[in-house]
Amino acid sequence: MKIAKNSVVSMHYKVATAEGEHIDASAPDSPLVFLAGTGNVILGLDKALIGKQAGDKVDAVIPPAEAYGDHDPELDLVVSKGAFPKDAHQQLAPGFRFRADHPKQEGAVTMFTVHKIDGDEVFVSGNHELAGKTLSFQVEIVSVRAATHEELSHGHVHGEGGHHH
Ligand code: ZN
Repeated sequence: MKIAKNSVVSMHYKVATAEGEHIDASAPDSPLVFLAGTGNVILGLDKALIGKQAGDKVDAVIPPAEAYGDHDPELDLVVSKGAFPKDAHQQLAPGFRFRADHPKQEGAVTMFTVHKIDGDEVFVSGNHELAGKTLSFQVEIVSVRAATHEELSHGHVHGEGGHHH
């Protein structure tokens, strides 16, 4: 069967930046299992897999707009420590993540990550760490099946490689 919207796809993958820097890969004994065409994976990958079937190897180069978006310099901010609640000061360190108002979209909240602390200045970014990157995927499709009604109503896969609940 060929991959279509709502197919349950099991696949092995490797992903790197366009420059060849390794990002992530499936473990040899545990392929990624997901609901195709529903945003479980990035848009460009969802699109590249439509029509493929078990055994197919797919190489896909995906631009930022169909991956994690463009890098937005206005989401890279320097804020003073005093802007954080007192009880958060101890946790303030590179890698600390928190939710805050989006600087440009009124009413929207976005995730920020602390990158650096210099005295009273905290350098934070609301960009995804892969924003602005072109991604290169190497995929091998293991299996394709139709989703059950329950999986479709939950929006994710159940069973092996999926949700257990
Ligand atoms: Zn479920």
